Amino acid sequence: MTAKKKTKIIKTIKVDVDLCNGCRTCELICSAFHAVPRYSSNNPERSRIRVIRDPLRGVFIPVYAGQYTPAECTGRDKYIIDGKEYDECAFCRASCPSRGLFKEPDSGLPLKCDMCESDPSLAEPMCVQWCLPDALTYEEREVEVEDEAENEQEDVEIGLESLADKYGWQKILDTVARMSKKD
Ligand code: SF4
Ligand code: SF4
Repeated sequence: MTAKKKTKIIKTIKVDVDLCNGCRTCELICSAFHAVPRYSSNNPERSRIRVIRDPLRGVFIPVYAGQYTPAECTGRDKYIIDGKEYDECAFCRASCPSRGLFKEPDSGLPLKCDMCESDPSLAEPMCVQWCLPDALTYEEREVEVEDEAENEQEDVEIGLESLADKYGWQKILDTVARMSKKD
């Protein structure tokens, strides 16, 4: 059987750190967009993007909140940029038990960038729209993926058909009825 293909959209935000000036507008608009009700408040602590800033060195690095991880990493990473060593895990995207980054300040619940999913959908995520120096740019591309759910469904149908060929539909239905009465 040839696997059916379907397409899905991969959304990407490209970060050009050389263009980022550390203004933190992305943090403000992200927190405002996700406030309930929408735009009722803005608080960078609630943002799903955080800008690691070192103004004296002109280092500004936006980091997006990724997947929550319930376990701390067994190792740590450290970055050295222009001779300066940054905190352990400074550029990690995960919300994890080791640090307060990417956690909702009141509830402690993890925050994750959702690409500003909304209805109606936006042409571009808010942080991209509001980043005036164009340090953030948005791309969509379509990729082909295996349609597993459909394949499974097909497998079941083919399996039932061959059973029916062998035993007949009535026998299959009688067996299912008998099994469902057991409990
Ligand atoms: S809005 Fe753009 S330039 Fe400003 S901090 Fe965010 S990424 Fe950097
Ligand atoms: S894409 Fe949307 S949710 Fe993600 S960081 Fe930007 S504004 Fe926040």
